Amino acid sequence: MAQEEKEGSSVYTTVSYDPTDTRHHGAISVPVYQSSLFAFERYDQFDAAFSDLFSHHVYSRGNNPTVEYLERKLAELEEGEAARCFASGMAAITSSIMSLVRSGDHIICVNQVYGPTKEFLGSYLSRFGIETTFVDGRDMVAWQAAIQPNTKLFYLESPTTMMFELQDLRACTSMAKSIGAATIIDNTWATSCYQKPLSMGVDLVVHSLTKYVSGHSDCVGGAVIGSKRLIDQLSHHEYMLFGGIMAPQIAALLTRGLRTLPLRMQRHESSGLIVAAHMEKQSYVRKVNHPGLASHPQHDLACEQMTGYSSLFSFEADQPVELLKEWANRLQYFKIGVSWGGFESLVTVNSIGGTQSHSSIVRIYVGQENPEDLIRDIDQAWQQIGQGSTQNSPL
Ligand SMILES: *Cc1c(COP(=O)(O)O)cnc(C)c1O
Repeated sequence: MAQEEKEGSSVYTTVSYDPTDTRHHGAISVPVYQSSLFAFERYDQFDAAFSDLFSHHVYSRGNNPTVEYLERKLAELEEGEAARCFASGMAAITSSIMSLVRSGDHIICVNQVYGPTKEFLGSYLSRFGIETTFVDGRDMVAWQAAIQPNTKLFYLESPTTMMFELQDLRACTSMAKSIGAATIIDNTWATSCYQKPLSMGVDLVVHSLTKYVSGHSDCVGGAVIGSKRLIDQLSHHEYMLFGGIMAPQIAALLTRGLRTLPLRMQRHESSGLIVAAHMEKQSYVRKVNHPGLASHPQHDLACEQMTGYSSLFSFEADQPVELLKEWANRLQYFKIGVSWGGFESLVTVNSIGGTQSHSSIVRIYVGQENPEDLIRDIDQAWQQIGQGSTQNSPL
């Protein structure tokens, strides 16, 4: 092929910007590197990159510049040395657990842990000879009593996302350290804005970024943050081998989410407390589970280890679940849904103690709407079914 011909056709195909230009032409938002592959002109460059994969860009199941940008920010916010992003919170959780245990090991986990995490620990991992004991996370005597000679990991989630019970993070991490076990915490509820578990001795922090960090219910993602040593170990094994990586567009959306996270969390915190305090005054409510309320049995511990509160909480009522579902049907602002952290307020209703029970638990997610509108909404929906329950019962 003649040289002019080669150069002529390459105008269509060759990337025309200088890939070493770190200024991104002044772009104010993180550029999306929509590329699986990063190639080299010379073999010595290729060999150098391959010998230290995570400091270079070779292939996007390894290192993508857009994802890496988010990882650096998350590490900084959580006060950790390094972070890895994953395709979902569960990919981050399962990978980080797998990175710290092997066949024959024993794990102790808080019994109120996120459902799929409980299934992974309690049933899936037993296939590989890894057993888990679930304990009441509030009770340090229970943690101590569950310790076995082969206990290698404490798995925490504080607060838990249905009952909003806390674990004493400093007590748990010092107990784990005393037996040479590692600790992981799911910090999705508090976010890095309101709780810094690494500073309290936790080894790895995991997040579902799907919730508050995304903030707009438009992406699914997860992250693990910790020391460079633990993150490197996880990167070489679970990250590269399971391959549950985050795509660059998602990383760009989550990076955008981070810019407003502190502002959104302030609003969530104040609105959540307003709605929770309102629920506490309702005659049909037996108990509100929100660690920011003075009535929460672990409120003092919450003040010690968190600097703020997010807006997911629950209330318990001596009312049948069918009635509360009718209440949920009449809410205008609140939608019925599970995943939280987005704009819209949400509810879910569950029975406590079986289907015949007359006791229910309602999980409330307070979104970005005006909290006074949300309170009015809750009250109008209750009035509708309150009237209905004597005359034209909806049930
Ligand atoms: C949603 C959630 C997860 C799982 O995250 P995904 O992104 O859905 O995989 C884990 N832990 C908590 C506390 C969650 O709320």
